[in-house]
This record gives sequence, C-alpha cells and structure tokens, in this order.
Amino acid sequence: MTQIDLINNRQVHLQQGGVDALTQLAALSTGRPVWLRVGRLFDGCCERVLEDADIVFDAKEILAVGDSSKAIELPAEISEMSQPDVHLPSWTALPCLVESHAHLFLEGSPTDFATRKQYLQQTSETLLQRAQDRMPTILRCGVGAIRDAGDKHGVGLALAAKAKQHKGELATTPWIDSPGAAIHHQGRYGSFMGQPIEEFASASKCVAGRISDGADRVKLLVSGIINFKAGRVTAPPQMPIAEVAEIVKAAKANNRQTFAHASGAEGVENAIEGGVDTVEHGFFITDDQLARMRDRQIGWVPTFAPVQLQVDRAEQFGWDTIVVGHLQGILDKHSKMLCRAHELGVTIIAGSDAGSCGVPHGVGLLNELLLMERAGMSAIEVLLTATGRSANRLDFAEPVGQVAPGFRSRMILTQHDPTVTVANLRQPKAVLADGAFMFSDESTEMKGL
Ligand SMILES: [Zn+2]
Repeated sequence: MTQIDLINNRQVHLQQGGVDALTQLAALSTGRPVWLRVGRLFDGCCERVLEDADIVFDAKEILAVGDSSKAIELPAEISEMSQPDVHLPSWTALPCLVESHAHLFLEGSPTDFATRKQYLQQTSETLLQRAQDRMPTILRCGVGAIRDAGDKHGVGLALAAKAKQHKGELATTPWIDSPGAAIHHQGRYGSFMGQPIEEFASASKCVAGRISDGADRVKLLVSGIINFKAGRVTAPPQMPIAEVAEIVKAAKANNRQTFAHASGAEGVENAIEGGVDTVEHGFFITDDQLARMRDRQIGWVPTFAPVQLQVDRAEQFGWDTIVVGHLQGILDKHSKMLCRAHELGVTIIAGSDAGSCGVPHGVGLLNELLLMERAGMSAIEVLLTATGRSANRLDFAEPVGQVAPGFRSRMILTQHDPTVTVANLRQPKAVLADGAFMFSDESTEMKGL
C-alpha cells in the first residue's frame, strides 16, 4: 500500500493489520479528511458506547462522528467516497486522556529519597529538559492533556507557554497548562513546589504575581499532608476560610480557576467554604462535604496512587504492620467516599499526582484509573473522569477530552476495550494525535517517567 493509493481515496485493506492501516491513516490525515470506522466508540461524554461508529477527521480536528447505519456527512474533499478509508471492526476508539494532577518538574518513578533529592538539585533548565524529554512517552501512554499541579522552578509554566505557541496548530505533545508556583505559607507544607504568600502584601497581590508569571490557574495548599505514622492529618490547615476566599476572589476576577491541595476534614472544609473549583486529594472528606461540593459544582480529584504506593512498597519505606493498617484503612475509606461521591453526583476528576514518590508520569494515570475502578466505579464512569467530564469542568483552552466534531484529533485506538475494564489501557494500543501515530505495547519503559 502506498501513499498514492491512499490519496486516490481507496479503502485501505488490512492485509498488514490494523497497526499499519492506522499508520497510513494518520499520515493521510495531514493531507485530507479521513474516514475511520471502528467497532466501538466511547466519545468521552456519553455513557453509552456507540457500536460501528464512523469518525471523520483530519490531522487537526474531528469533523464528524456518527452511527455507521446512518449516512455520515462527509466533507467536500471526500464526498465521493462510498466506504471508509479504514474499517477496524474489532477496535475501540476513545479520546486521549486528561491527567488533572501532575507535577511535571518531578520524576515520579524513583522511590528512594536520596535519588529524589538529587534530582531536584539540578538546574531549572535541566529539570525542564527532563520534563520535555518524557512528553513523547506520556502521549504514547494515551495522555493528551495535563493540568500541571505546580512547581517553583518554572517548568510547568515553560511547558504551558510552549503549548500555547502551538494552540490550534498541529503538535504531537500533550496540551499543558500550569499554575506556576503553588501558594503556601512560609514554614508550612509545600516549599518544594510552592512559594509563600508572605512574599506579597496581600492574597490578591500574590495572585496577581502568579498571573504575571503566566499562571493559567491558581494552586493553593490549604492543608498539610497525611501523617502516615499517625494515620491522619496531624497539622492544622495552613489557610483559614477567609484567606482561601480571598485567593479565590482574586483568581476569579482574573478568570482563573483555583485548585486546592486539601486533606483532613478541616482542610477540606476550608477549601470548600473558601469556594475553590476543585479539591485535590481530599483524604478524610465527609458525606456532608461531598453534598456541598455537588451543590456548588466543586470537582474532586481523589489521587489514590501516591497513597496506594506506600502500601505496595511498605517494606521499602520501612512501614510496620500498624502503619500499613493505617494506610489500608485510609484507602478503604477513600474508596468508600469515592463511591459515595459518585452516587451523590459530585464531579469526580482523575488525577494521579504523577511526579510524587513512585507515581510515574503517563503510566501513573493509567494506574490511578484502575484504582478508581477497583474502588467501585464502572469502567465507563472512570473513563468519563479522565476525558470529557474533567475537561469540561477544568475548561481547558484547547478542545480536548472528546471524540466529537470540533475537538482535536487525539484518540486512543485499541483492540482491548477499556470500557470493559480500564486495566485494558495498559494493553497494546495506538495513539493518533495531530496526524502522528504512536503505538505502545504493555511494557512501557518507566525509566525517566
Ligand atoms: Zn500534587
């Protein structure tokens, strides 16, 4: 099969298998709209999977989507075609995934303290280069958009600025936005990723400072972290409600969303009552808090992965059976609250906290989705939290997270249907992104992630 055959609008037959056909289809999409028919389509928005679906797209955007039993409206360039370019009856298509909580300046895979400390001693330029180097692998994992969750080295901001240069253009890299440095209090949790509010005369001046640095959103650290030995959050919140509200007000006045690191019922309370857009982590969240989050459309990013890792590697971290018991109890409760949030109708958003200890970029999100499924959500509900539903709530500046007209042409194609179980996202799959084709097998090399 040559490029010429394809350009003459002939259907690609699958003598060489779906992978070759998809490679050719991606290349062809850079010259004209292409027509793909798949066995199943999860569009990122609808809970129902469409059987025998047609997807028409070019390298830049999806042009039409429909049921193959009804005639799809073809663009003028290919209006004469009577059959799709490629028909993959045993494949499922879905949008590329949205990772809503990742620290792009950090390498997640190392778990030993010394290596992690050493990594952070590199210059900002090196940290940026390392982050950039892992982008192709992250995309190959199926992640098409990332909300960076903060760093003080300018890595997230530099990557987000680069993404903006390519806004609306072809770019085979995930879409990225960033809050820059998180806002925290001097001497309190978060100095590795945040800068203290005390550097500014007021909360609103601090927000203005972040925005002039280029922040797309505002990240605030309302609480500390879980004390694993004690099995709870032992420090009081670092920000009272009034301060959170002041930051939120200043961010809103500048059309910026706010996202709050908050664990422990008190910290979560201050984040909710302060009016943030999303609560990050939210360990020890209560029923009543979830109900208010639903009523106020505050999203929840539960980030199971970093805590699960503490259980999985308990021996390496030196945790005894008492601590492991605490950790397991926390995770069990978190799973229960995830199901409760789902029942109540809270907007649940998937984010892995990639970059934190033992949570690699890309693969970490796939693990997070599996943990959410194991907690009791259906595979489709979990996929919604990592595609259209989260993209809608987070309001990305690029149309990502759905396979629908007007959205970017960034799709996962696989013979291992993730709507059956999200574990299938770890199976071999293809990623089509802006006219490029990538294939990943199940053995993603974790090194560098
Ligand atoms: Zn984080």
